[in-house]
Amino acid sequence: MVEVFSHSKLSLYENCPEAYKIKYIDKTFPELPQSIHAFLGSAVHDALENLYRMLISGKVLDLDEVIEYFAKSWHEQYTLDIRVPTGEKVEDFFNKGVKFLVDYYQNNLPFSKDTIELEKKIYFPIEEGIFIVGYIDRLEKHENGSYEVHDYKTNDRMKSQEDVDKDRQLAFYHLGLQDVFGENAKINLTWHFLAHNRKVHSFRTQEQLEKLKEETLELIEKINKTREWPACGKPWCDWCSYKKIHGTIDKNQGEESRKVFTLNDSLGKWM
Ligand SMILES: [Zn+2]
Repeated sequence: MVEVFSHSKLSLYENCPEAYKIKYIDKTFPELPQSIHAFLGSAVHDALENLYRMLISGKVLDLDEVIEYFAKSWHEQYTLDIRVPTGEKVEDFFNKGVKFLVDYYQNNLPFSKDTIELEKKIYFPIEEGIFIVGYIDRLEKHENGSYEVHDYKTNDRMKSQEDVDKDRQLAFYHLGLQDVFGENAKINLTWHFLAHNRKVHSFRTQEQLEKLKEETLELIEKINKTREWPACGKPWCDWCSYKKIHGTIDKNQGEESRKVFTLNDSLGKWM
């Protein structure tokens, strides 16, 4: 039997073991409407993907065309059940997306022609029978033969150099590319923090990658041995919020949580 893990699957276990169990073991995770933050993220990713897809085919889009594409796909895909925090306005999120794209466009002109793949799937064994899966937003190959992984972040969180140097998600991409291009491939990692109009670069030594593999295998072993799955109880946890609203909480914590959270409170904190 083959086991498959991703950075986000591992993160879910780290954040809320009960949510992990419901989603990946019981496979009964409720179908929740998308949050406006996730919707904004995917609309911005799509617009940048389109920008580079056009670039690969030889056409440099104007800024207007990039924004037009974003606005069109926003309006086509927006649905009324998307979760917007209480007191916040949908158009502010739309405007945020426009600002991200304007800043990105101006910051990255003239666009490098080195992009070779978009939304590239990585899939590699971290040990026999255990695979890691992920998707690289954009992959470049430079003239000197080195590769550069680009990842766009649309949330408000700005990571420090220290944070990105320890980041698991992009290090997995590094390992995935080594699996394809060989251990000697030179690979650099770049984060685009769009909400901060900043780029941060990082790279991993072979030693760091080996350590990451070890830690990941330890985590997977821990997950596979887990028999008790505590809920995180945090208001921003989709599963924990869902339980509070629908009352499907176990008897011990049920009454307490229902007192504290009303429907609107929870929806407001859902993100
Ligand atoms: Zn939780």
